[in-house]
Amino acid sequence: MSSRYSFLEGLNCSGCGKKYAANQVHTFCTECQSTLLVEYDLDAARRQTDRDEVSRRHKGMWRWHEVLPVLDERNQVTLGEGDTALLPMSSLGSALGLRRLYVKEESSNPTGSFKARGLSAAISKAKELGIKKVIIPTAGNAGGAMASYAARAGMQALIYMPKDTPRANIEESRIVGAEVVLIDGLISDAAGMAGIKAREEGWFDVSTFKEPYRAEGKKIMGYELAEQFDWELPDVIVYPTGGGTGLVGMWKAFQEMEALGWLKNRKRPRMVSVQAAGCAPIPRAFQKKAAFCDFWTNAATIASGLRVPKSFADHLILKCLYESSGTAIAVDDEAIMKAQKELAVAEGIFAAPEGAAAYAALKDLAAQKWIQADERVVLFNTGSGLKYLDRT
Ligand SMILES: [Zn+2]
Repeated sequence: MSSRYSFLEGLNCSGCGKKYAANQVHTFCTECQSTLLVEYDLDAARRQTDRDEVSRRHKGMWRWHEVLPVLDERNQVTLGEGDTALLPMSSLGSALGLRRLYVKEESSNPTGSFKARGLSAAISKAKELGIKKVIIPTAGNAGGAMASYAARAGMQALIYMPKDTPRANIEESRIVGAEVVLIDGLISDAAGMAGIKAREEGWFDVSTFKEPYRAEGKKIMGYELAEQFDWELPDVIVYPTGGGTGLVGMWKAFQEMEALGWLKNRKRPRMVSVQAAGCAPIPRAFQKKAAFCDFWTNAATIASGLRVPKSFADHLILKCLYESSGTAIAVDDEAIMKAQKELAVAEGIFAAPEGAAAYAALKDLAAQKWIQADERVVLFNTGSGLKYLDRT
């Protein structure tokens, strides 16, 4: 065990580099409105934290506490998130000519999606900072996750979501006591309303990348992957991207693990961002080699988690794609539904449409020979297909 429970140092603006103290409540940079990223004393952590000792701890996201932002264990709000399976996909792999294809199965997280990780981190840190009421605009699964962690922390929760969000997301939020406001419009409209409510009534806004700690929970997916591959990173990661917290978080995790000296080599994966053809701001910006996205008008797709017309951290997502020699790809709803069926029949995985989109994109990349037969490829299934069965 390290001498310090967490090596949290402070917050650093991803835009202008301004430093912020981590013992105060912050949202995003007040100078340039960019996302704040969490920094740790990685030199000290490198000296005092034994990677293999971390591996021997009880399973779960919080066993990585040295590189998570909560200083006091008693503030952890956990429902058993993290340590999801990395499953080989031999059947679909051989159909695509890929010998080492895996899926990171995030649907086994509490509330049925990867959102549990980020919200466990954010609500825990909010608890540590004395926050009593939290608000979130959501495309669906993040709302359900926030509601559950808020309930467990004894916090008041208010959720803004589009009225055509899957019914499961609405009901799972209400059953744990959150107030749900259904709106006419998209997550971008919900974000505007939640922002106003937060300023007027003192709610803490847990919007993607407008608070610093959700990305910290999500980044643990990167630590788990490294551990599952015996401390060597895979060659390609195919990731469905709405707000992009996981993509940016994992890239941050890879940098941290290098600094910690935990990786066998400096090889990083090529990161692939997958969006839906009906809402594809990242692929459009990537093709133009742009640093930021333009707002996507009339966004429409069955993959509600991908219906994000412009991520607050679009710049960080694109930077990660460029730095990793990755790519961005859009798939249409028909391809998503077909991919969902194929994943289910061939591998027994009933994926969320977002996870199915990642598989649809992978098929295109394999056909284009963008991926070589012996490369290690990880596809992310971000949630359970069950939550999308009964649409409102
Ligand atoms: Zn700034």
